Amino acid sequence: MRTVLASGNAGKVAELWQLLAGSDIELVPQTALGVGDADETGLTFVENALIKARHAARATGLPALADDSGICVDALGGAPGLYAARYAGVHGDNAANNAKLLRELDGVPAEKRTAYFIAVLVWLRHADDPAPLIAEGRWHGRILEAPRGTGGFGYDPLFLPDGSDLGAAELDAELKNRLSHRGQALAVLKARLSELA
Ligand code: IMP
Repeated sequence: MRTVLASGNAGKVAELWQLLAGSDIELVPQTALGVGDADETGLTFVENALIKARHAARATGLPALADDSGICVDALGGAPGLYAARYAGVHGDNAANNAKLLRELDGVPAEKRTAYFIAVLVWLRHADDPAPLIAEGRWHGRILEAPRGTGGFGYDPLFLPDGSDLGAAELDAELKNRLSHRGQALAVLKARLSELA
């Protein structure tokens, strides 16, 4: 099933691609179809995922898959939250975002650096689909005091998953996909899709 992926984020595209390998879903990134970014005006992850999926479905006439994700840090009242990609001001500047997160948590002890990644996936059959499939995943852990590892993307170098001695950016891609918020959400979505088939 040819599906437009409502994201231009290279890290997300690569992970979703890998997670869907072998399924009957053929993902085409919206950038390859000349579709630009939607305005993420929602106040929740689910609203933004719906906005992105609808925008891509409307522009292409294809079914659409969108992911809206972020990281919520307890000691910061849930920030960066919805605004994870532009926490330091410039959309997608990972180095600046990570540096800001470390500054904000300066002096906060390890036990108070708890955080979770969240991903909400939305699947729309068409732009006016009134019954989208929606799946959520959360990955709990804490924020490190200095970056570790070179894998993954975004905040991965600062995230130590619960129960792991390795940071998210030190995990191999396959293991991250199995544990992560996005991997969990996609497993739920795939099960829902197979119920429909
Ligand atoms: P958006 O969903 O495109 O609004 O952006 C989500 C942002 O959250 C990304 O740009 C990253 O900064 C962060 N993020 C989401 N998922 C991950 C992940 O798996 N690892 C690291 N950072 C992530």
